[in-house]
Amino acid sequence: MLRTPVIAANWKMHLGPQRARTFAAELAAALPPQGNRTVLLFPSAVSLAAVGGVLYDRPDLMLGAQNIHFEDEGAYTGELSAPMAKEAGARAVLVGHSERRHVFGETDGAQAKKVAAAFRHGLKPVLCVGETIAEREAGRADDVVLRQLTTVTEGLDDAQLHELTIAYEPVWAIGTGRTATPRDASAMHAVIREAIHRRLGDAAVQVPILYGGSVKPDNAADLLRAENVDGLLVGGASLDVTNWVRIATA
Ligand code: PEP
Repeated sequence: MLRTPVIAANWKMHLGPQRARTFAAELAAALPPQGNRTVLLFPSAVSLAAVGGVLYDRPDLMLGAQNIHFEDEGAYTGELSAPMAKEAGARAVLVGHSERRHVFGETDGAQAKKVAAAFRHGLKPVLCVGETIAEREAGRADDVVLRQLTTVTEGLDDAQLHELTIAYEPVWAIGTGRTATPRDASAMHAVIREAIHRRLGDAAVQVPILYGGSVKPDNAADLLRAENVDGLLVGGASLDVTNWVRIATA
């Protein structure tokens, strides 16, 4: 692996400010600074400031928002903008998580605008892509992932593309306990890498491509060893300090 591994925790709609603060403090105590890893934490928006408050002396643990709206402000009840996320302490943002796409019906076009908003405000976007089980069984997995990727990347200049982090998260593996094999993950990561290579040439090796979908302490190391897998995005297993530390140090 040529890149610094990126290990990211998506806490989804868990841990309000008080519990998130306690959890982050336990996490910081249990996880020594990771010189050779980038560790990202994505708490709920309402807990960003609380987690940031306990991690002020841990710049190695990067805080991110789980979602943003693509407008900077306005009449969008219930939404969070990139500047607001930044003010609350976020340095990164998840864009296009499968739950945003499939539960909330967000389109590829919306993800492109969100990535643009993230770059406008200096947030590092982590773009999630992935196919459903029906799409995989129909032999369309590569096409779906490339469509999701291209819709976002065609609006980016090369410098921005270079700054993008991509997370391949097959929808059928998220929260299901069914993990892609390292070989399957590696195959899709190669497809993604090739698409980036067509734009950036050899610099494509520096764009991190994470795998996400039922990552657990027991499968993390095998997935990280797979070719073209540069890190992990973890949901359920990141809500347990012991499991998370095992994954973050796998
Ligand atoms: C996720 O939420 O991005 C995720 C991969 O969830 P889980 O690890 O629970 O499958």
